[in-house]
Amino acid sequence: MGNPSNRYEAIIIGAGPAGLTAALYLARYRRKVLVVHDGKSRALRIPTTHNAPGFPDGIRGTDLIEQMTRHALEFGAEIDKAEITDIERTGDGFRLQASGGENRESRSVILASGILLNQIDLPHAIHEQAIEAGVLRYCPVCDGYEHIDARIGVMGCDSDGAAEALFLRQYTADITLMPLSHPELSAEQAREMGEAGIQVETGALVHLEPHDDRMEVRLEGRDAPLSFDVIYPALGCRPRAELAARLGVELEGEGCVLAGAVKDSGVPGFFAAGDVVEGLDQISVAMGHGALAATKAHNWLREQDRHTLQAEA
Ligand SMILES: Cc1cc2nc3c(=O)[nH]c(=O)nc-3n(C[C@H](O)[C@H](O)[C@H](O)COP(=O)(O)OP(=O)(O)OC[C@H]3O[C@@H](n4cnc5c(N)ncnc54)[C@H](O)[C@@H]3O)c2cc1C
Repeated sequence: MGNPSNRYEAIIIGAGPAGLTAALYLARYRRKVLVVHDGKSRALRIPTTHNAPGFPDGIRGTDLIEQMTRHALEFGAEIDKAEITDIERTGDGFRLQASGGENRESRSVILASGILLNQIDLPHAIHEQAIEAGVLRYCPVCDGYEHIDARIGVMGCDSDGAAEALFLRQYTADITLMPLSHPELSAEQAREMGEAGIQVETGALVHLEPHDDRMEVRLEGRDAPLSFDVIYPALGCRPRAELAARLGVELEGEGCVLAGAVKDSGVPGFFAAGDVVEGLDQISVAMGHGALAATKAHNWLREQDRHTLQAEA
């Protein structure tokens, strides 16, 4: 059974909006709950979000995570910084291995591990400065509104890039779709771009140069750089779902955990929440998942302890 101080009723992997919401709920359900995270919440990179409900003046991602952490700690959740490298089922729960080598055990687990973005190739400090300056954005749903009538460049001239360019067409008529290496649009997609008034460039990317107020893009075959108020790369993402896969949880085509896993992953006592689950990658969705997964985990524990009516189970 292991060291009892290392044994929890619920362990949450991830301290982003999903994991910290789940921790708050479980702590208020009076569960012994631990959050383990490796410090890589995407929310920490948000300069200011304008679509998190309840913050009409916007809130910085670091401030949101700090407040959510304080809230979960206030009700008794524990939080540890470590990377979980492996997970296995035991007779009565799960054993999680951390990068430091220490094991933690829990009756239930919520995976709230998020995704990793496929990013454009810029040195890290320059990349993060471009995000801070607002000339580089990865989320049209989050930030499209801030770019009304702006000159927008979308990187990634394939079906994902075309869909993102069309989504952003709601905000501006000045959109250019550019390839990283070569355009991969079908004739039908190229026609749709034309009908929507979206400019399509075909030359491969040579160089990106962020400035405080614009992004300059050099493309093969063009003497002068193109200038944009903001660039949106549409390069996809890598869900951090390896631990779910290790338990045999079913993943969808892009590698996310299936939407149903918020309530039932197919592995008893194991749930998922937030961006790692297929759907809309947003703070409000992650919080909703966190609340649902925590309540499911709590009710599952009640069931195991026979603290439910037969009909409820
Ligand atoms: C620049 C930027 C701007 C954004 N703007 C907005 C916005 O305005 N509005 C909005 O709604 N959304 C925005 N988003 C998206 C938003 O950040 C995510 O939807 C949200 O953070 C998802 O929450 P999550 O808890 O699912 O994942 P995350 O916040 O990414 O947290 C994942 C957690 O899991 C941990 N983790 C993962 N694997 C392991 C492991 N093996 N071991 C230990 N810990 C692990 C990480 O350390 C992290 O703590 C933005 C994202 C970015 C990058």
